[in-house]
Formats: sequence, C-alpha cells, structure tokens
Amino acid sequence: MVKTTDVLLVGAGAMSATLGSMLKQLDPLVSITMVERLDKPLQESSDGWNNAGTGHAAYCELNYTPLQEDGSVNVDRAYGINARYEVSLQYWSHLVKLGALPSPENFINPVPHISFVWGKDNVDFLRKRQQALIGHPMFAAMEFSDDSKVLNEWMPLVMQGRDPDQKMAATRVAYGTDVNFSAVSRGMIEHLQSQDDFELLLNHAVKDLKQQDDGRWNVTIKNEKQNTISTINAAFVFIGAGGAALQLLQKAGIAKGYGGFPVSGQFLVCKKAELVEQHLAKVYGKASAGSPPMSVPHLDTRIIDGEKALLFGPFAGFTTKFLKHGSAWDLFLSIKADNIWPMIKVGINNFDLIRYLVKQAFQTPRSRINALREYLPEARDQDWTLHTAGQRVQIIKKCPKHGGKIEFGTEVIHTSDGTLAGLLGASPGASILVPIILEIVEQCFTEQLATKEWQERITKIIPSYGISIVSHKDLFMSIRNDTLSTLKLS
Ligand SMILES: Cc1cc2nc3c(=O)[nH]c(=O)nc-3n(C[C@H](O)[C@H](O)[C@H](O)COP(=O)(O)OP(=O)(O)OC[C@H]3O[C@@H](n4cnc5c(N)ncnc54)[C@H](O)[C@@H]3O)c2cc1C
Repeated sequence: MVKTTDVLLVGAGAMSATLGSMLKQLDPLVSITMVERLDKPLQESSDGWNNAGTGHAAYCELNYTPLQEDGSVNVDRAYGINARYEVSLQYWSHLVKLGALPSPENFINPVPHISFVWGKDNVDFLRKRQQALIGHPMFAAMEFSDDSKVLNEWMPLVMQGRDPDQKMAATRVAYGTDVNFSAVSRGMIEHLQSQDDFELLLNHAVKDLKQQDDGRWNVTIKNEKQNTISTINAAFVFIGAGGAALQLLQKAGIAKGYGGFPVSGQFLVCKKAELVEQHLAKVYGKASAGSPPMSVPHLDTRIIDGEKALLFGPFAGFTTKFLKHGSAWDLFLSIKADNIWPMIKVGINNFDLIRYLVKQAFQTPRSRINALREYLPEARDQDWTLHTAGQRVQIIKKCPKHGGKIEFGTEVIHTSDGTLAGLLGASPGASILVPIILEIVEQCFTEQLATKEWQERITKIIPSYGISIVSHKDLFMSIRNDTLSTLKLS
C-alpha cells in the first residue's frame, strides 16, 4: 500500500526539523512525514558534538570582513550574516514564547565571541575592523582592547604563559552565543510529534524519487531493520539529507553539473573541570594563508545538555564519505558525466586547498597540540582528546570561466514547479537555518505564502519578515532587545 502525505522531509536533521516546524506553524492542517535512515534523529552534523555550536553572527569570524585593496574593511557580508542569524533568533524566541521549545538555556547560552590576533599588522586590522563595524547597532556592543590586563580578564587561560611584550589585541561581544543545534531541533521534532498528522519513521532510508504525471512524488523507502521496501506519495519533498543530499537531488534529476567535495572535521576536546571553569568564550583567530574559510582555528566553550567542555579546532581531513555514518563509496557514486569535468577542474585549480587538506590529513597528535598551544600556550597533551565531528560536503559547480569552482556556502536547489527542494553546501550552516528555510517556503509555497492567513502568521512568527533589519535600525533594536531577553542572552 502506498502511504500519502502532504510533505515528506528526508532526514531528521536541523534543517528538516525547522522546515517541518515552520510549515506546521503556517498551516496546522498540513500532514508531514519525516524519514530518517539512522535509529535516532540528529546523529549527523546537527548532533551537538558534531559541530562547533557557534551562533555565527560575524562577531568573531574575521573571514567575513575582508581587508580591501584600498585599505578599508568590507563589512557587507558581516551585516548580512548578523541579520540572518537574528532571523533564527526571532524564530527560536517565538517557539519559546509558544511553549514549543524548552527553556532557552537548554539549547542556547551566552558565550562571549572574541577575535584574538597577534602581530602589528593583525592588531591594526582588528582595530580597523571594530571601528568599521560599531557604526551599526548590530555591532555597537563590540569592544576592542590591546591591553594585556583586559585581555587577561576576557580570556585568562589564553593569556597564561604569553610573552607580555608580544603585540596582541582582541575584540569581544559579550552576548555571542553557543548553540546546541541538536537540542533546539529535538525540541522542534518533539513539538511536531505532539501534533496531529506528523509521523517520524526511523531506520528508513530514501532510495529513489520519481515525479508522477500529476506532479506528486513517489519516494522509495527502505526499512533498514526489516529489509522491506515501501513507497510514500508526497505533494512536496524536502531533501534535508545533509551531506547525502547531492545523491538524492541527482536521483530527482535536479542537480546537473553539481558535485560534492567532502571534508571531515575533528576537534580536540577537554572536559577537565578546573580548565573548563577558567574559560568562557569562543576565541576565533586568523586562518593560515591558503586555507579554506571553515578552517579558522577557534577555542570554544561548549555547553551541551548541561555539560560544559572546551573544544579546539577544527582539523580537517580528506574522506570519501558524505556522512559521518556514510559509505566510503559516496564520493565515487556521486561522480556523473555532467559533473566530472567541474570536479577535475576544481582539483587542478585549487592546489592550495588540496595541499592544506593533505597536510591536515597527515597531522600527528604532536602537531595538533602545537596548533592548540598557539591559543593555550600551557596546554598539556593529557587534558585533551581527539573527537571526530560531522562531515561537510562543499559544493562544486560548473563555472564558464574556470570550468568548475568550489563554494563554501549553502545553496537551495528546487524544481521549477516547487514540488521538491534540497540543500547543498555547509556554511555558515545551522546558524542561518531559519532564513534558509524561509527561502524554501518562498520558492516552493509561493501561492500559500501570498494568502492573508500565511502573511499574518509569518509576521507573527518572524516580526521582521520582509523588512531589512540592516536598513531599519529602530526595528532592529526592538527585535534584538526582545530576542536577547526571551532567549536569556543579555
Ligand atoms: C565540523 C563541523 C562544524 C560545524 N560548526 C558549525 C557551527 O559552529 N555553527 C553552525 O551554525 N554550523 C556549523 N556546522 C554546520 C551545521 O552542523 C550544519 O549546517 C547542520 O547541522 C546541517 O543540518 P542538516 O539537517 O542539513 O544535516 P544533518 O544534521 O547532517 O542531517 C541530515 C540527516 O539526513 C539523514 N539522511 C541522509 N541520507 C538519508 C536518506 N537517504 N534517507 C533518510 N535519511 C537520510 C542523516 O542520517 C541525517 O540524520 C558545522 C558542521 C561541521 C561538520
């Protein structure tokens, strides 16, 4: 028998959880089925320990504010990312007020965001960056200091054992955030489960998708436990399969010319209470020359399910898997006639990236500890263990100029009739999941979104919906005050 549903969410990760939650808010009568190949939701990149949990607001990530040839700092990307993160905060605030998410400290906590640099040129850049950003209320709370006493107050562990004559500086935003994306998504899935017409099927893997003449999709599902095959017929399909999305989008016939480049992630983790209690910050530094944006080193306080820890990394590595629990065949099976040339060209044209990954893949425990000591000069090997995090699959696509290019962002792909959508790419990731999901709603539920009911509901859910909070500073201020207080971040 074929099961029918209005919406089929493939994968029980943060993206599917958010889309399901948003659609139920907009249309309480919609029927939703979520299928997950593993035996629990949120075991891949969205698991708390499989990502760094940084609420990316461009407070501490120096790669979002490049230095331009004329010597000025470009702040456009930083404004855009901050505004997009604020949309996620608005949605979580709405769900907290509704009682659809637990008390905020269960999934988001204030952890100051610090950028830390050394050397005269870097200090000059950081000062210039802070001056360029603080003109907008989004960044007005950003403090700068090159005074070692202040830096010592902000991050005592990082300052221990440093040469006091070394030129150093930092900026800090006290209400930066650490987010447990697993906890917030679990809250959304549990809320969906408390409502009618929602079903979560675990141990069920999507194997194939075929569009029918009436525009609906027949999706072939394998029950991994019982080894049986069934079909779900859906009006709309969302492929929220994380790194595995590429292969399913290829099966649906809408990822022509796209390839994927998997990069694995590892972190050093410390749970020793006496060290953990001495550090409360996410300290981001400068990426080394030639390395990709997601390789920026950072030392983070993490708060996951009430447990505090320190995390340092990331260390990258080459892998052929598209998921942490995936298959070594993933990369090879994704190679098709339409993407092989862009993939070869990316390999040829990105020698710096390949060299960086090869170097990372051959890192020894000693070289990892040496990298950590740049941030914690007195770090001891025995206090840290190596943890394997989630997989990132970067987008490779055709490009007329170079034949193929690699992108580090996230891209929404959908059919022209809006009956199927999926996500490719990895960054800035879960922090901007609500604006990404809104993009899908706008592109695939256009008619419904134009109705009075959906318009009223969406502005209740996201008060700034349709308005730029970068340009409307008063609106921005009132929204930020509300999100900081509802989410207990101030
Ligand atoms: C090392 C690392 C650090 C990161 N740090 C940050 C950070 O600091 N801040 C930030 O905002 N973001 C960060 N991210 C990104 C963030 O983790 C991801 O953007 C986000 O978790 C992606 O969620 P998702 O739902 O798309 O994918 P996932 O969480 O990977 O979920 C996909 C789900 O689909 C399931 N699935 C796959 N194939 C099938 C199939 N055929 N059938 C059924 N189910 C299937 C999988 O089992 C999985 O449960 C990081 C990522 C990594 C890897």
